[in-house]
Amino acid sequence: VGAETPADTESEGKVAGISISSPDREVFPASGCTKLDVARHYERAGERLTEIAGHRPLSLLRAPTGIEGETFFQKHAGKGFPDALEEIEIEESGGKRGTYIYATRPEAFVAAAQMGTIEFHIWGSRTDRLERPDRLVFDLDPDEGLGWGDVRSAAFDLRDRLADLGLASGALVTGGKGVHVWLPLHRSHDWDVAKTFAKTLAHVMAEAEPKRFTATMSKAKRKGRIFIDWLRNERGATAVAPYSVRARPGGPVAVPVTWDELNGLEAPNGFDMGAVRERLEDPCSYLAMAGDLQRLTSDVVDRLEAW
Ligand code: ATP
Ligand code: MN
Ligand code: MN
Repeated sequence: VGAETPADTESEGKVAGISISSPDREVFPASGCTKLDVARHYERAGERLTEIAGHRPLSLLRAPTGIEGETFFQKHAGKGFPDALEEIEIEESGGKRGTYIYATRPEAFVAAAQMGTIEFHIWGSRTDRLERPDRLVFDLDPDEGLGWGDVRSAAFDLRDRLADLGLASGALVTGGKGVHVWLPLHRSHDWDVAKTFAKTLAHVMAEAEPKRFTATMSKAKRKGRIFIDWLRNERGATAVAPYSVRARPGGPVAVPVTWDELNGLEAPNGFDMGAVRERLEDPCSYLAMAGDLQRLTSDVVDRLEAW
């Protein structure tokens, strides 16, 4: 090991060129993962995150003192936001305008991590065409007491339903309790079409198997069931970004998986930052199908409504 050059000293504590304050703060006390670990994860995953989550309005889940302290969602830009994050004015319901944030380059995610961001959540449309969603997400939320096997088979059933409609879909384990089944959309539909499609499919499945599924948010109706949360497909709604760390014990990561992989997984929160580091060497199953843009044609919608 040679003597430190001035350049080394300068880059010390910097990640992707960004100085990380309190790098040793334990963000995940049980596992000892620090703020620096989180920043480095986002440096490693930055290219992929930019491809997947770039140019989409973001919601940040921040935990400035770690996951056991106060955490909060933030969708609007705030004072002292780093230049690495872009801002865009968006009209919200009620006609008000809000300043939203989005990323266009890998450093943006590291800069957000420097502000204590743990999780990134994304809109289903991109900043250049906000009114045209380019992805659909079904968020499978199991009631307490249901096992992972129940969630996993629900994901396969949803995949098969979509396939029956001629639509290919992908899977993401959330790092929490569930799976997100998603599909890339051609930007030819508005939010109403996307949301109505997702709502109808969720209700079709719940009506076909009311003991397994519910399409309504109410906790009471969820008893022993999986809520097929179609509400992620509304303008302004978000879903966790692939490769986002989760603010949950152990620092699990939301990870896209192939259907074959999902079949063999033993939990939806089994990938930590170290496991993802290795997966980043391999092609990404999300990006592999992200360009497979599909349409909710009247044919597809008619078939769905006939079920
Ligand atoms: P899990 O698998 O444990 O359900 P999840 O990411 O799907 O993990 P949910 O609680 O089902 O978590 O939430 C689905 C999505 O809804 C989140 O990923 C997030 O984007 C959004 N969301 C949930 N709660 C909030 C909130 N309080 N503020 C903003 N967005 C939220
Ligand atoms: Mn969920
Ligand atoms: Mn949900």
